[in-house]
Amino acid sequence: MKSENNRMRIGEGRISGAISIFLGVSSLASILCFKFPEQFTTPEFREVYTAAMAENLILGGIISTFLFALLSILLAKNKKYAVVGVVLGALSVLLGGMTVEGRAVEKTNWSLGLDWLILDLLVMVLIFVPIELVFPKNKLQSKFHPEWKTDLIYFGISHLAIQLFGVLTKKPAVAFFGWMNLDGVQQWVNDLPFVIELFIALVVTDLFQYAAHRIFHSHYFLWRFHSIHHSTENMDWLAGSRTHFIDIFFTRSMSYLPLYILGFSTLTFNVYIVFIAIHAVFIHANTRLNFGLLKYVITTPQYHHWHHCKEPEHYGNNFAVVFPFIDKLFGTYYLPGNEWPEGTGLVDASFPKGFMKQFTYPFIKNPFKNDLLPEEKSGR
Ligand SMILES: [Zn+2]
Ligand SMILES: [Zn+2]
Repeated sequence: MKSENNRMRIGEGRISGAISIFLGVSSLASILCFKFPEQFTTPEFREVYTAAMAENLILGGIISTFLFALLSILLAKNKKYAVVGVVLGALSVLLGGMTVEGRAVEKTNWSLGLDWLILDLLVMVLIFVPIELVFPKNKLQSKFHPEWKTDLIYFGISHLAIQLFGVLTKKPAVAFFGWMNLDGVQQWVNDLPFVIELFIALVVTDLFQYAAHRIFHSHYFLWRFHSIHHSTENMDWLAGSRTHFIDIFFTRSMSYLPLYILGFSTLTFNVYIVFIAIHAVFIHANTRLNFGLLKYVITTPQYHHWHHCKEPEHYGNNFAVVFPFIDKLFGTYYLPGNEWPEGTGLVDASFPKGFMKQFTYPFIKNPFKNDLLPEEKSGR
């Protein structure tokens, strides 16, 4: 599957076919959001977009589904992608996608974040597919590598369950710190200029994230869960999503803790979420794009790919998600010039394939032949 001819190239009609299918599926999912907004859209997110914006987006989506299918028909020898695209587009039209209209939404306790999933996926595809196509790190790696569907399921579920994660990750903060009187600190944070408040939020959350990340690498039972994230051999923009529920819950609870208790504004919180969502995807991407000297200030794909390095001698480096200086501070920094790791993934590990099996496996079994922690294997 890693063969060179599997990678899509511009001009052979497979990219346009894949885009057509992707837009067709997105249009159908968007229609579902319009028909059942109580069940499939999130109240917080509904405040960000308007019904008119979403209506235009679906209309544009359906028209583009047909246009890309047409392009694929013209370019490709194999027309199957285009046919699927046309069928999805036609279904969207039949289900009333061209004339959907927003309506008042009733209050519900629970809903799935399908709107968040569609829009985030759309934005990520728009940003990262062209980057990986034009500036790839591994030229031989195809987007459709053997485990891309598993990674997509991880991406989908973590987005659909956004409300659940929001509620769950807030619980520890309220339980442990709710009783404290932090009015003074909260007032101080509140009075800060926005840019400084945001910068402090990023540094503090990264420190907490760093601690959580190291805990996952240094406790044998927890490492079983986090090692799922390290199991990816094909690093790309979707690969970062492969994270076990326990890992997401614990790491997010820890990283968000300062945001929940120190009085950061809603604006800071939201900008932080958007920045982290894009940046976390970026550092896993299959791209050689670097930021020149800026790579010493903010983490890049090269930096995080070293964290995923397959060679045990480099295990246990680069835990920080945003700021390399945090690793410098704690002696876990590794960025050798312009060198990249030869491979990513884990040696001696046998993980089952697929989301459900990977979900239950760490609870009951050890994916490794021995119970050495990654840092113990590094020999440092
Ligand atoms: Zn890690
Ligand atoms: Zn990672």
